[in-house]
Amino acid sequence: MKQLQIDLIPEEYASPSSVRRAVAQAMGVREDELEPFRITRRSIDCRRRPLYHCTVEVESGKWHPEGELNTLEKKKNVVKKVENDAKQTAAADLSTFHFPLSTKQVLIVGAGPAGLFAALRALQLGMKPIIVERGKPVEERKKDIVSLVRTKEVNPDSNWCFGEGGAGTYSDGKLYTRSTKRGDVSQVLRLFVEHGADPDIMVDVHAHIGTDRLPAIIASMRKTITEAGGEYHFNTRVTDLIVKDGRVCGVVTAAGDEIEADAVILATGHSARDIYELFTRRGWLLEAKPFALGVRVEHPQELINEIQYHGKNYSKLLPPATYSLTTQVYSNNQTTRQSSNQHGVFSFCMCPGGVIVPAATAGGQQVVNGMSNAARNSGFANSGIAVTVGSEDISSISRESSPTSLLDFQKSVERRAFEAAGNTIDAPSQRLVDFLRRKPSSRLNKSNYMGHCVSAPLHEILPDFVVDCLIQGFKDFDRKMRGFITEEASLLAVESRTSSPVRIPRDKETLQHPQLQGLYPCGEGAGYAGGIVSSALDGIRCVEAIGMLHSRQ
Ligand SMILES: Cc1cc2nc3c(=O)[nH]c(=O)nc-3n(C[C@H](O)[C@H](O)[C@H](O)COP(=O)(O)OP(=O)(O)OC[C@H]3O[C@@H](n4cnc5c(N)ncnc54)[C@H](O)[C@@H]3O)c2cc1C
Repeated sequence: MKQLQIDLIPEEYASPSSVRRAVAQAMGVREDELEPFRITRRSIDCRRRPLYHCTVEVESGKWHPEGELNTLEKKKNVVKKVENDAKQTAAADLSTFHFPLSTKQVLIVGAGPAGLFAALRALQLGMKPIIVERGKPVEERKKDIVSLVRTKEVNPDSNWCFGEGGAGTYSDGKLYTRSTKRGDVSQVLRLFVEHGADPDIMVDVHAHIGTDRLPAIIASMRKTITEAGGEYHFNTRVTDLIVKDGRVCGVVTAAGDEIEADAVILATGHSARDIYELFTRRGWLLEAKPFALGVRVEHPQELINEIQYHGKNYSKLLPPATYSLTTQVYSNNQTTRQSSNQHGVFSFCMCPGGVIVPAATAGGQQVVNGMSNAARNSGFANSGIAVTVGSEDISSISRESSPTSLLDFQKSVERRAFEAAGNTIDAPSQRLVDFLRRKPSSRLNKSNYMGHCVSAPLHEILPDFVVDCLIQGFKDFDRKMRGFITEEASLLAVESRTSSPVRIPRDKETLQHPQLQGLYPCGEGAGYAGGIVSSALDGIRCVEAIGMLHSRQ
């Protein structure tokens, strides 16, 4: 097996014979001498003229047509071998679920990516997972989401963040993580493939699944977990922990039931504010954690394609373009202790061909986020644009510094956005060009928000230092992506659930809460992950820590 890198222009990539020629050239052989090969990694570099960067593995043996690379249209042939490999490896993973389970039971609070991957790994390690989830199975959850859009009423247990699959279900399903140190990403991708995801996710550097495909995958994971001996409790909100002699040995539910287990993984996500309130009430350790706050920006997708692909030539040959932007700015923030403060401004959860959704988890909040279908074909591109916020930024707003002061600040901004939309989950909206001039929009652009947009002065709703940083950030982004600032771009508020403003601390080695033996704070809500893949990896890590402890006892 020989591995090589080749760069292909989109026209070459779309033509199997050109790909073959390029591989033969890179190998220094004639085409008829070329051995079977396959693309194992692929990304698009659009810094100049767009190029596919491909990692190709050339095998020994004779060339056969099945080894041909796929075109964009015929990708099934392209990845046939990758698919088989992925399925075989995943099948090997799943076969380990049939070990007889030990008597060890792990209670997992939350069926988001952290909780589900913890459950799958627990089964591989011979432990029985008991999943306790406040929301509904994914099939029923969908009805609540439709109803949320129609009635504008948020069900606090079943919404865009809560319910089976967690916040990752109705999302773009982007599967890349900046942090590869957290564990074996391919382990997570393989499990997605085994449960129905397109095997291409093993190949694309910037893979995504799509919100139209995710619910079936989540349901398939449930089947694996229950068939292997795991247990689900839906519509079951955890309201307290059972603690005996400093050790957590179960949970109390809203119905007053007690469910006991040997260890508890708390994977409730960053929107489970009642869990942070529980910790505060019980005097258990919590820490404030910097988070990010901003807006969602929306452009016509065609415009983003043109900017990123340097013209209109490639729109048919390349997928809807993405972007990732980041900059550092100094705000003249009168509300902070320092006269000038450095902040990161960055794009977050960019959804090409996507939709903007109302992601509040209770009444009285306005929150936006983004999702896309697998085809990413809505015609709109949206992305969170957020400013980093730390405790020092709110010291004059909230003089009492406490572990939840950033959470309180986050709540207050969401409340203001809700009020600005006439006490509804309509989205306060402003044209980007008006925001930069700090003037309300007399008319709004067309938007793909799942609901209504109302014109509102976002420069007054958001804290001054955030507005200041966003304005500088947008100007810098326009320098990096000429045309980003355009009459056609809209801003929707408020992008506030980028990450948790609170951390539930845990010991670096054992991953248990410092005061509560047997409790494993996990995933995004505990502050140890951000995104689907890193949350899934954290779930796996927590279960492995429990397994290690178990094997020593
Ligand atoms: C619209 C949207 C789009 C997104 N798009 C992407 C994307 O494309 N790529 C990406 O990587 N990330 C995306 N994210 C972020 C990603 O979904 C989260 O990072 C990830 O889901 C966090 O995983 P988690 O398991 O830690 O928590 P969550 O997914 O938040 O899951 C927590 C679970 O706990 C349950 N729960 C909460 N409180 C309780 C309680 N008291 N009792 C019982 N159960 C409880 C909730 O119902 C929920 O199911 C998106 C998020 C949203 C909202």
